[in-house]
Formats: sequence, C-alpha cells, structure tokens
Amino acid sequence: MSAIMQKEGFEYSFDTSACESCAGKCCTGESGYIYVSKIEIKSIAKLLNLDVREFVQDYLFKKMYKYSIKEKQNGDSFECTFYDSITNGCTIYEARPLQCRTFPFWDYYKTRLEQLKLECPGIRDKELTNV
Ligand code: SF4
Ligand code: SF4
Repeated sequence: MSAIMQKEGFEYSFDTSACESCAGKCCTGESGYIYVSKIEIKSIAKLLNLDVREFVQDYLFKKMYKYSIKEKQNGDSFECTFYDSITNGCTIYEARPLQCRTFPFWDYYKTRLEQLKLECPGIRDKELTNV
C-alpha cells in the first residue's frame, strides 16, 4: 500500500511502499557511516541484551569523535551489520539510529535531489502527488 510522506522544507515526497521491493538500498551498497549517539548506543545494546562495552566492541567503530555501525561485505556491496537480506529488514528496527529514522529527509539531500533519486526508489516529485 502506498503511503506518501512529506516534510516541511523538502521539495520531494517519499513513497514508503517502495521499501517493500527495494532490497534495502539505504542499508547496503557503497561503504558509509551510520552514526550512533551515546543514547542510541545504550538503546541498541539494551535491545540486543548486551553490555554496552561489549556492544561497542563488537558492532561499532570509531570515526573521529563519533561511533559508526560496522558493515559486512556481501559481494561488491557493503551492508550495515544489522541489515538482514533474507527478511529485507533492520534487525534493530525499534532502536535504529536517528540517521536511519530520518532518511530520506536529510538536509544533505535538499540540494542533491537527483543523487537521492538514484539512491532511493521511493523519492517522488512533490508536485506529482496529491498530498
Ligand atoms: S532506499 Fe528508499 S525505498 Fe529503499 S529501503 Fe531505503 S528508504 Fe526504502
Ligand atoms: S541500523 Fe537498520 S536501518 Fe540503519 S542502516 Fe542498519 S539496517 Fe539499515
């Protein structure tokens, strides 16, 4: 079922139904950073029933002063370690970081719409939607 999302200040819409057939393009593909805050680290560790220190050691790496989730390589693709290709889903969905919750409405894409369209098949031109 189609569910169109819009956000004030963004010149595009997002059709959430595209996620069903997309195979997690935003969780796979080119290597990148999936940043997690201290509060998010605690939430994910709790969800996984892990000690925070153990979670950080096993699932995160440090990038400058921040922590990012580790990736696993699958052929040419780099997948977030929490992406499950069998179910096409996020195994920490309830505690996924803000960076994931707010995609595709990132300030970065406000001036890079064509790039975003290549990365996410759910992007729609705002004027073509009825909402
Ligand atoms: S890339 Fe877009 S359509 Fe695909 S899973 Fe991510 S948000 Fe959904
Ligand atoms: S934490 Fe979940 S939603 Fe975020 S990149 Fe990883 S698998 Fe995708």
